[in-house]
Amino acid sequence: MKYRKFGKTGLEVSALGFGCMRFPMQKKGEKNVIDRKRAIGMIRQSIDNGVNYMDTAYPYHDGESEGLLGEALLDGYREKVYIADKCPVWLIKKEEDFDTYLEEQLERLQVEYIDFYLLHGLDRQRMEEIVKKYDLIKHMEKAKAAGKIRHIGFSFHDGLEVFKDIIDYYEGWEFCQIQYNYVDVEYQAGVEGLRYAADKGLGVVIMEPLRGGRLADVAPHLADAFPKEKTPVEWALDFLWDQPEVSLLLSGMSDEKQVADNLKYAAFSSVGMLSEEEREIYPKAKKIFDTMALVRCTRCGYCMPCPSGIDIPGIFAVYNSTAVSGDEKAKKAYAELETKADACVKCLRCEKACPQHIGISTLMAELTETFA
Ligand code: SF4
Ligand code: SF4
Repeated sequence: MKYRKFGKTGLEVSALGFGCMRFPMQKKGEKNVIDRKRAIGMIRQSIDNGVNYMDTAYPYHDGESEGLLGEALLDGYREKVYIADKCPVWLIKKEEDFDTYLEEQLERLQVEYIDFYLLHGLDRQRMEEIVKKYDLIKHMEKAKAAGKIRHIGFSFHDGLEVFKDIIDYYEGWEFCQIQYNYVDVEYQAGVEGLRYAADKGLGVVIMEPLRGGRLADVAPHLADAFPKEKTPVEWALDFLWDQPEVSLLLSGMSDEKQVADNLKYAAFSSVGMLSEEEREIYPKAKKIFDTMALVRCTRCGYCMPCPSGIDIPGIFAVYNSTAVSGDEKAKKAYAELETKADACVKCLRCEKACPQHIGISTLMAELTETFA
């Protein structure tokens, strides 16, 4: 494993972090539940190979992720890693809620403290209407003084100007987490935001390095943009590791092979690993991606459940696949969906939760027409 400086914290983190939001699942009766044995095995497989950053959050896997991680870190594994967890900002309705959630998270994780604690998914509205209103920074500082959290940060989903405002709002930020990859260089915080944060001494954690898998399973003409000696996944990850401002990237790994592959890629990573010629490939690949992109869904699942029973990320995956697999295959996949886009009643619950600010209800109407 390669290790990199984590901003001004003075700590060193592994180039690869384990994102605990896409564990392998299995059927239990009617329900789909985490395959605990495999998930714990994968977490330990990564730690045994040097991964020292575990990222979870209150809502991941419908509240099951933190508990699973806690279980995986028993038997001496806790001491080998940093735990990153996030305050569910949108659930805070009064000041005391901050401590209530933090205590619950410590209990779920079975730990005395959380190494990296983030305000989850900040945007302009959450910043104004929750963080400032309930003085959450003060509560973070109190929790730090009490030894319950060690470092203060935030994760982010909004535009560049908002990102800079949030960074400038508080001098105590030690790190942040942003969505970034070779197609999102000018989206949300983007490359300018990355450099802005790093310049201020923040560690920068990258989420969605593969854009919810869309830079892994790519259309043939996008794959053709890259020389064949590496896979599209490697090219996407190397784009990030090449940059000195990137502290680590998170991968939400779903099977043992992904863990093994990512470990192998991380072992070869370093700042400045790409040649100028290789760096020039990415803008060309982005152009190809942009012409194919229909919906910028990352499959995070925050919009779920839909009261009408629509599998929102699933339906968008089918829609996006029209650009990859051709219309006929996509139409067949759409026809097989149990609940289709026309079931949308425009309640807008999903849109309030979507960190990509996707106009989901409008798209449902478009999709109904497209597949009619
Ligand atoms: S707006 Fe439509 S897709 Fe979104 S939650 Fe409501 S019914 Fe479901
Ligand atoms: S529609 Fe938005 S909230 Fe739902 S899975 Fe896609 S990106 Fe996530």
